[in-house]
Amino acid sequence: MEITTMAQATQLHAQLLKNPQQNHSQTLTKIFNFTALSPSGNLTYARHILNSIQTSSSNSYFHNTMIRAYSDSPDPFQSISLFLTWHNNYIDDPFSPLPDRFTYPFVFKACSKLKLKRFGRQLHGLVLKSGLGPDTYIQNALISYYSNCDQMGCARKVFDKMSDRDVVSWTSVINGFVENKRHVEALRLFEKMETEGIEVNNVTVVWVLRACAETGALSVGMKLNEIVKNRGSKMEMNVVTGLIDMYSKCGCIDSAIRIFNEASDKDVYVWTAMISGLASHGRCKEAIELFERMERCDLKPDEKTMTAVLSACRNMGWINEGLSYFDKIKKVYKFRPTVQHYGCVVDLLARSGRLDDAEKFIKSMPVEPDSVLWRSLIWGCKVHGDTYRLERLIKHVEGLEMDDYDDCGTYVLLGNVYASNGKWKNKANMRKLMNKKGLVKPSGNSRIEVNGVMYEFTAGSTCHVEAGSIYEKLDEIDEVLKDNGYDPKLSEVLLEIDDEEKASQLLHHSEKLAVSFGLIKSEPGATIRIVKNLRSCEDCHSFMKHVSRVYKREILVRDRIRFHRFRNGECSCGDYW
Ligand code: ZN
Ligand code: ZN
Repeated sequence: MEITTMAQATQLHAQLLKNPQQNHSQTLTKIFNFTALSPSGNLTYARHILNSIQTSSSNSYFHNTMIRAYSDSPDPFQSISLFLTWHNNYIDDPFSPLPDRFTYPFVFKACSKLKLKRFGRQLHGLVLKSGLGPDTYIQNALISYYSNCDQMGCARKVFDKMSDRDVVSWTSVINGFVENKRHVEALRLFEKMETEGIEVNNVTVVWVLRACAETGALSVGMKLNEIVKNRGSKMEMNVVTGLIDMYSKCGCIDSAIRIFNEASDKDVYVWTAMISGLASHGRCKEAIELFERMERCDLKPDEKTMTAVLSACRNMGWINEGLSYFDKIKKVYKFRPTVQHYGCVVDLLARSGRLDDAEKFIKSMPVEPDSVLWRSLIWGCKVHGDTYRLERLIKHVEGLEMDDYDDCGTYVLLGNVYASNGKWKNKANMRKLMNKKGLVKPSGNSRIEVNGVMYEFTAGSTCHVEAGSIYEKLDEIDEVLKDNGYDPKLSEVLLEIDDEEKASQLLHHSEKLAVSFGLIKSEPGATIRIVKNLRSCEDCHSFMKHVSRVYKREILVRDRIRFHRFRNGECSCGDYW
């Protein structure tokens, strides 16, 4: 008989207890499995069964199942506590069974949920002592555990020492690197995985696609597309979503659209990926049209869909549409707007110069505004020259409990505002404060893929092997562009230095180094794709426009927020970013 409800389970259990002389072990196992593992089971009841059989038979199967069930429960600590009791029993009674290869993976799972770093390491020691060290199943669990606890070094060590790596081992370590934002390492591992002839599964594909999307590694992404296409079977929705996201983030929005159109039975994630892609490429009207089509398919948008829709409105400066979609989140789609949604609206209002409305909007929020919101508003004040409000806001932000504002973006912006007003002393104070808090301003870096290889540049760096020719070419480009109307915006340099030094600093921003390298290395006429970690500065933006016209190249720059497609001296963002 199949057990489907707790009522059935308890009834059956009562019957067994009435006839204790018979051997019921099979039925008991069935009852126990249901109570422990089924979503409609009951862990307390399962534990009750476990406790009742403990004396009669010390069965490790029951212990393992219970530990596994706890590791998936809202209270994973129970999993560890049961393990410890079991282990201590073994020390008292060496004839009882030991925790085995089916025990440790779930205890590690519990540790990773609870982020127990020290205990996890001790447990790892125990695994080695018990002779289970070389077990692939346990090693895979260890990789996941270390990755989840931000200890990629240890995860990698376990992986490197494995003699028998299966696709799960490779996928776990790649997944770990992606989750820890070490995308380039994830891509290298994928390359190695391929050379070793290990076949990828869908989970691997999804993680590697994510790494491609983040780094702009288009050629790897295309290879993955080939791999899944050659399998011939229908693509899973998470792979479709991954491909759409990868293509849009690598600048190939048309390929993303092709994948989207080819997919059938699209779920909300697929639609959302496509809407976000269109929005980030400045094809905002299409993004909104697609969203309306999605609604007609009776699919309910989620938080991410609405972020994409609102950012489309923001990119276009559509205030009324933006506000009306924002209203619909609560009234029609019935969920609470997130801080990202508020952020889009504040940004939309601030960019269009409706600073008063933006400020009122922030103050009306039911959730605590984060630093990004204040930053959008301060940035708006700076752009629209509202110095009175700017100074008032700066005082306000400075007075806030700054520990909540621990990302350094706000400090950097305040510093920039001070610098552009020539208030060097205030800027220096800001820097001191950042140093005291141990905040480091992220340095600008740009990546470019040439012939399938990824190159990374940081502002002013000279560590590239071809640095000499890159800088030489950059000087040449600079000359040519200046003859063609390019005028460097020295005001973008925020240091107290003379103009000549400013000009050289400006010329060595990372995306300029990348474009110089791109012009040297790629075929004439080929599109140059650059991924930048920060928002582009005004000067780099104008530089790229000139390069696209003078050198007759299409240049795609993805900055932290959106895409810029430079063609023939114009940018797809319409200089609104
Ligand atoms: Zn720049
Ligand atoms: Zn642009």
